[in-house]
This record gives sequence, C-alpha cells and structure tokens, in this order.
Amino acid sequence: MIKVDRDEVFVELTRSICPVCKAVIDAQVNVRDDRVYLRKRCREHGEFEALVYGDARMYFDSVRFNRPGTIPLQLQTEVVDGCPLDCGLCPEHKQHACLGIIEVNTHCNLDCPICFADSGHQPDGYSLSLEQVDRMLDVFVASEGEAEVVMLSGGEPTVHPQIIEIVELCRTKPIRTVTLNTNGIRLATDPAFVRRLAELRVSVYLQFDGLRERTHRKIRGRDLREHKRRALDNCAAAGVAVTLAAALERGMNEDEVGDIVRFGVGHPAVRAIAFQPVTHSGRHLEFDPLTRLTNSDVIHLIAEQVPEWFRSDDFFPVPCCFPTCRSISYCLVDGGEVLPISRLVNPEDHLDYVTNRVMPDMRVRTALERLYSASAVPGTPQIAEQLECATCGIDIPAALRDLAQKAFMIIIQDFQDPYTLNVKQLMKCCVEEITPDGRLIPFCAYNSVGYREQVRERMTGVGVATVVPNATPLQAMLETTRHGSRSARRLR
Ligand code: SF4
Ligand code: SF4
Ligand code: SF4
Repeated sequence: MIKVDRDEVFVELTRSICPVCKAVIDAQVNVRDDRVYLRKRCREHGEFEALVYGDARMYFDSVRFNRPGTIPLQLQTEVVDGCPLDCGLCPEHKQHACLGIIEVNTHCNLDCPICFADSGHQPDGYSLSLEQVDRMLDVFVASEGEAEVVMLSGGEPTVHPQIIEIVELCRTKPIRTVTLNTNGIRLATDPAFVRRLAELRVSVYLQFDGLRERTHRKIRGRDLREHKRRALDNCAAAGVAVTLAAALERGMNEDEVGDIVRFGVGHPAVRAIAFQPVTHSGRHLEFDPLTRLTNSDVIHLIAEQVPEWFRSDDFFPVPCCFPTCRSISYCLVDGGEVLPISRLVNPEDHLDYVTNRVMPDMRVRTALERLYSASAVPGTPQIAEQLECATCGIDIPAALRDLAQKAFMIIIQDFQDPYTLNVKQLMKCCVEEITPDGRLIPFCAYNSVGYREQVRERMTGVGVATVVPNATPLQAMLETTRHGSRSARRLR
C-alpha cells in the first residue's frame, strides 16, 4: 500500500452555517489548485463546499490589509449563543458600522429572478413608518456618534409613499451621507423626484447588470435598458452622483464587465461601479458553488477586458472590513484618459498593517483609509478632499487635476451567502442592517443566517425599540421590543 498526499492545503478551521437548516457548524478553509474553498459538514444535510476566493495568492496577500477595528459607542445585544447568533452588534464584534442600511419596505415594482431580499411578489409586505425610521436612525447614531453613511434600500425604496420625507429625516441627523439603492424605474419616469434627490444631496446606487437584453431578461425578468438610460440622463441633468451596481453571475454576464466599465467611465452621472458577485440568498438562479465568481475573479476579468486602463494590481483590499470582503480601485478620468491612483501613490506602502514595510506617512495613511473604506461614497466632497491629501506633492497630469470631478471608483464586493459564510469575516463586518427592533446586524448575517426572515415574520405590528437614556442598549431593547430581545435573537 502506498500513502497518497491530499490534493489540498488545509489553512484553518472556522465556523459557518448549513445552507439547508442554518445550523452553526465547523468549516475548513482549504487551498486547492491555487483557489480557496470553504468546506463544511452538517449532521443532517451532509457536506457542502464553495469557492470563496479564486486566487489563493491574492487571498493570502490581503491579510496585510487587516486594520484594527473601532469599538462602537453602543452595542445592542450581549454574547449568549456565540457568533453568528448574537447579532448585533454584540461585544464580540470587531468593528463599528461604516454603513447602515435601512430597508424601508419590502414592496417592489419588479419581481426579479435574482433578489436576495426576496421582494416583489409577497402579499405580506410592509413599509416602515416615519416614526420607525426615526428610531432606527437614532439607534445608528447612538452607536456611531457622527455616522458616515446610511443607505435607504428595500424592496424598492422609491415606491415607499414617504421616501422623500424619510430622506429629509435622515438629513436632520448627524449622518454625513445618504444613499438610495434603486432599480431606477422611478428615476427614469419622474425627473422632479430626481431633482428633489439632488437638492437633498442624495447619492444613488443604480442596479445595472449589463448592456445586453438577455442579461436584463435573465436577471431582472424584463428589458430595462431604456429605463436605465433615462434614469442616468435624469441624474446627470439634476447633478445626482450615481454608482452602477452590477450583480455578476458566472456564465451570465461576466463577459460584460469591460463594457460596463467603459459605459460608466463615459457617462457624466456615473462616479463609480460596484461589481457584486450574485449573493445566493433569497431568490437566485441555479449556480454551482464550486465555480461561482469571487472578488479576485472579477478583478482579473476587469484587467482582461479593460487592459488599456486597469491591471489586477490596481485593486486593493479594503482594510476596515475583513480584507477578503471588498476591494477597491480609484482612478482619475478625463475623456478617454484613465489613470489609476495606484500608479501615483501605492496604497500598499501605507495600508500594510502587518509588515509595515515602509514607515507610513500618517496623513496619507488616514486619507487612504478613508478612501479604501465602505463609507467612501463616490461624488461626495470628502472623496476629493481625501484624494487631494493622498496625492499631496505628486505630479498629476493637468487634465486630471480637478479631483472632485475626475475621481472614479471601482468596488468589488462579494457578499457572503449560506454557502460561503465565514464568521471570521462577519465578526469584522462594517456594513450593518438597522432593524426595526433596534439591532445593527452585519449585512451578510442578515441575509444568510435567518435574521431577514425573522424580521419579516415579526415586522407587522412590532414596535421599534426606543433608546432609553442612561440604560444599557440591551436593557433598552428588553424594555421596549414587544417580543423581547433574547427571544428575538434566538433563531433555532
Ligand atoms: S457577527 Fe458580530 S454581532 Fe453578530 S454575533 Fe458575530 S460578533 Fe456578534
Ligand atoms: S432585486 Fe431589487 S428590484 Fe429586483 S425584486 Fe428585488 S428589490 Fe425589487
Ligand atoms: S457585508 Fe458581508 S462582505 Fe460586506 S463587509 Fe460585511 S461580512 Fe464582509
């Protein structure tokens, strides 16, 4: 008998969930054929394996970008059952919330085949009242002090009858930036609405999965190209900055990445593109967890499809969350000219927290940390200010010197789903769902672990927690949440 070597390198043991029953189970991270996989076994439902990073070298390189987290001013839950069942934020959480999401409704004017929120068709949807949103914003502000970004989402937030009042309410709070996550139908058909968004300084995240009719029909159920065009033109006319949000599915629209980049760079309203491999939570198309797209795959696709502008090493992991969650590249654009910022200043020289190969200039480090963050919203004055600081003293070509107008950002974000969920990433999540009962739940936990279903089930008639002065947040929740926070947190 001859002993045989394994075909993989074992990297670490972590925790995840069973994609079927959501039980919390051990999981192994392994590297095979230069790719990183997460494997786990549920006693009831057997073994599952999913690709989590398509390039093992980039995965290990990203470790150097793991910045120490910041403790929030208030926590909302206590440690009882362990991660990910104590969200949140619980005392074990490693980071504050750079971005808070409020899903103002579950209603939608589309019924997309891909929808992690499973919105559109349910008869039992809900819309938040202004009072509920007010209290949720207060929970966010109590946790953050001055909060960076709130994103209004849904469902489709623009069909909420009080969406403008909700934005106005956000503007009365110490929250720097308000963004609206939309499919763009109302932006295309209601120019007055777009003008009001501009007056309220709202940035838009516009669903934009590609330029081909087939892509629209497969992912959104109908051809929305004309709506997208009109929505973008209305935003350009009103002066609303737009991030194109593209859901990417293997075998569906991965070959459109380059066309989306060229389209975005060429449109006056577009200041950023967020590429998001499809999250296989809620509704999704059939997929193979072993060949799914990951952040490094998307980075390589951009470099392959737009080689005249980007290389793979123009993208850097974001240090505020776990660095395998999100990568960003900044560039300056003018007509046909595109210059990645990484060719002017190397973020790695300043954001390498493990080896600190050069002594970082702290001003430049701070500026880069703010740029390479989930709270960086394209088209805002803060971006130009930080770019100014990060490139201080560097000779920038004359045509690109107006940083407020020329900055363009590409974000790659692989949200976790029940197949890929790793508590190691969750514990440092900086993108939180603000729930009506006053919790801040890491977005990927909200979509994967069962919290979304729990909130939806309990939503109708459930009061929103009031922040009781001088009470610990947990006491406040126990006193004011109709179902009680302990029972609300138990998922099984
Ligand atoms: S994800 Fe964070 S808040 Fe949720 S249980 Fe884990 S450590 Fe706590
Ligand atoms: S993905 Fe967005 S637009 Fe589509 S059904 Fe879901 S909420 Fe509506
Ligand atoms: S939302 Fe998900 S992918 Fe984004 S930082 Fe949080 S855990 Fe990571």
